[in-house]
Amino acid sequence: MNKRSIETWSAAKSADLYGVKSWSGGYFDVAENGDLCIKPSPASKTRVSIPEIIAGIRDRGFEMPVLLRIENILDSQISLIHKSFGSAIKKLGYKGEFRGVYPIKVNQQEQVIGEICAFGSRFHHGLEVGSKAELITALSHLTDHQACLICNGYKDAEFIDLALYARKMGFNCFLVLEMPSELELVLERAAALGIDPQIGIRIKVSSQVGGHWAESAGDLSIFGLSASEVVDALDRLKAEGKLDCVRLLHFHLGSQVPNIRDIRTAVHEVCRMYAELAAEGCPMGYLDLGGGLAVDYDGSHTNFESSRNYSLEEYCSDVVESVMTALDERDIPHPHIVTESGRATVAYYSVLLFDVMDVSRLENRPLPDVVPDDCPDPVHNLLEVYQAITPRKLQECYNDAIFYRDEMRQQFNLGQCTLRQRAMGETIFWAIMRKVADTMDDLKAPPRGLTDISYPLASIYYCNMSVFQSLPDAWAIDQLFPIMPLHRLNEQPTEKALLADITCDCDGKIDHFIDPREVKRVLELHSFEPGEPYYMGAFLVGAYQETLGDLHNLFGDTNVVSVRLGEDGGFDIVREQEGDSVADVLSYVEYDPKTVAGNFRNTAEQAVRDGRLTPQERRDVMKAFRNCLNGYTYLHSK
Ligand SMILES: *Cc1c(COP(=O)(O)O)cnc(C)c1O
Repeated sequence: MNKRSIETWSAAKSADLYGVKSWSGGYFDVAENGDLCIKPSPASKTRVSIPEIIAGIRDRGFEMPVLLRIENILDSQISLIHKSFGSAIKKLGYKGEFRGVYPIKVNQQEQVIGEICAFGSRFHHGLEVGSKAELITALSHLTDHQACLICNGYKDAEFIDLALYARKMGFNCFLVLEMPSELELVLERAAALGIDPQIGIRIKVSSQVGGHWAESAGDLSIFGLSASEVVDALDRLKAEGKLDCVRLLHFHLGSQVPNIRDIRTAVHEVCRMYAELAAEGCPMGYLDLGGGLAVDYDGSHTNFESSRNYSLEEYCSDVVESVMTALDERDIPHPHIVTESGRATVAYYSVLLFDVMDVSRLENRPLPDVVPDDCPDPVHNLLEVYQAITPRKLQECYNDAIFYRDEMRQQFNLGQCTLRQRAMGETIFWAIMRKVADTMDDLKAPPRGLTDISYPLASIYYCNMSVFQSLPDAWAIDQLFPIMPLHRLNEQPTEKALLADITCDCDGKIDHFIDPREVKRVLELHSFEPGEPYYMGAFLVGAYQETLGDLHNLFGDTNVVSVRLGEDGGFDIVREQEGDSVADVLSYVEYDPKTVAGNFRNTAEQAVRDGRLTPQERRDVMKAFRNCLNGYTYLHSK
């Protein structure tokens, strides 16, 4: 490590190192004292220390890991989206309004939906549902009759009936046709209940997009009507005299669309379709552009799949301008623009807080002064390589080291090298790797072939959390999330590490980290001092992670704590939800905790009968069993 730069390290350097300004959306910042802080809104001067929030949470008896939700951020994101569309509409002289809706599937937790409805009511922010369960939650929260309630997803008569009743009660509810056969059912139920629906039509757009969810659009997308199916639907509606029910056109490009050009192309195509529907005599009035507004997880501002090459302002003005240009050509009145941005609305709002339990690192053994004469040649050669390392010869020394190590192993297999000789050779080999890596850190332009050398040298930081439960997309689709320490940021990090979770699964690790230019395989961290807490955070985890997470190794839901930050720098804990206990997760997988405890009690009593336990010892054993059964599934820190 570069000892000489320790004195000159600063909190600002940490902010650079972890790219905080690039990915934080203005909500997170590093304070002089080395704490990572939250800002209630990007423009605010207030900063609230996350370590202080953690202390407050722990004082109240909650343990790590904790999912922290910051109400102010959700509030602020909803405002930002509406204000950005609002100013684009004003600037361009667009005649329609913006009506945002939140797609419930992105984070369905009751608190999230409740807050979105509360914070969104001043903008008539609505909800999008894709199932009966989601429609029920929407109807239990939404009270604003100007807000849109968009019913996507496959529907049966029950779903349609409930949506029709919602319409009758005054909700601005739309039934969006996802497949041709739904139209017959909608017409039938509408006639039976005597309620005219507002119908939306979802179309397949032919333009393809980049990013993970490329298949959501295009001819092979599973949702939406093709051009000929749209024509069939219009003919059928005309025949029934119900063409005037068609009010909305919908499409969805897929989530996390990194390239603004793909969005523009698709919006243009959809506007052409809108114009055609209007020309066919549909009253229309709403254009629903779906989700897709991306989050810049890695802060690179590129069309890389974990990023986006546009800002919110650009997205809004590009969308409004494209719609306007396309419709003005045909003299068609401007519709209300609906978007279903989920990811961009909720991603920033949640942070996973966790602590490090332990660290394992490659042994750093002292080098032998001399290699005994009777050692095989490759061991002698390795020591020579070590002594020959200079900045100019890094690649050469690295290649030689690999060569001699392999040769030594071969000789071991042939019985020409003893265990002790091999151990000495490997000690020298790792010393070479470390010296090459350290020398590389000092070089402006390190050899390209060596950039991955820190990976095998990395320490492993064992983190008190489950990737499968809390960051499922990091495991399933290699999604990058910003991850960093939450304190000691005024100290120079001296370790390069990958993270392992506490599941017993070799996939339960994180070894891809954000970087402005590429993807890093190791993360810079501070040395771990046993007995002293080391807290880390995974950021931008508010979208999709909570209910996609699973019970791998029976690690359950984490504790959830919601805070509201005050402009005075204080915070209120506004809601707490205890995570799953062991008994909870056992009941999810068909155990009855009472039976489990009863069975164990019988076993313990048998041990008393057999003379292995005294009755008093049985009491202690049962107490330990019950503590575990009723306790948190994660590890207790000391
Ligand atoms: C998933 C989904 C969304 C949300 O997309 P984001 O990219 O998260 O904004 C919106 N609309 C529909 C129809 C969806 O399926």
